[in-house]
Amino acid sequence: MIVAIDGPAGSGKSTIAREVAERYGFEKLDTGALYRTCAAVCADEGVELDDEAAVVDRSREIDIRFDAHGEATRISADGRDVSDEIRTPRIDRIVSQVSAYPGVREAMLPVQRRFAEGRDVVAEGRDIGTVVFPEADLKVFLTADPRERARRRVLQRHEHDAEAPSAEAIEAEVDQTLADLERRDALDSSRAVAPLEAAEDAVHIDSTAHTIDQIVERVGELIRERR
Ligand code: C5P
Repeated sequence: MIVAIDGPAGSGKSTIAREVAERYGFEKLDTGALYRTCAAVCADEGVELDDEAAVVDRSREIDIRFDAHGEATRISADGRDVSDEIRTPRIDRIVSQVSAYPGVREAMLPVQRRFAEGRDVVAEGRDIGTVVFPEADLKVFLTADPRERARRRVLQRHEHDAEAPSAEAIEAEVDQTLADLERRDALDSSRAVAPLEAAEDAVHIDSTAHTIDQIVERVGELIRERR
């Protein structure tokens, strides 16, 4: 069975996919990690990001692997662990340029389809229900109010801080994060190939006013209906 979860940055896809995977016994596929890895490898090696052909060539050759490490999944590129690097704001800022290149997307397609061969997978991204797995058994399009998405990101970033930042500092960071999220959504939604959009047969869920538990429950119901 394949469950596709698409939606904009910070809508909760990754949290929901992780919980659904644990509760209902699916493998989780984080497809954003693939584009982040392409962006990180190119940037680290000095490939000019404006040079589409060079970025596509390098992306095609990267040996990307997901390895389970207890609860967490690590991702490596040509044998180097890039799991932490790909989550940095530096990569947030450049990933949408790299993921808009059709050749990069083409190179990532077989990686995603191979991952799903012969297993139950919950895959999250932007084009899972439309392009990667158009035959998915269940498609969810997850949204949330933009400011709420930015706030969640910021709180997540500080969740392990010894001392919590002031309310004012949080608000300032939410403003900045909101601007970054909106910029990335605009790029992802307006690109020519496989833009961020809901599949026609997707179930829309707005997570703004719901807890993680409520959404996972709802997705669970939908899975039971379709199994
Ligand atoms: O989901 P995440 O924030 O990690 O995705 C990072 C970026 O990767 C997105 O902003 C988008 O540019 C790209 N992406 C994509 N297609 C997907 C998943 C992610 O283009 N299926």
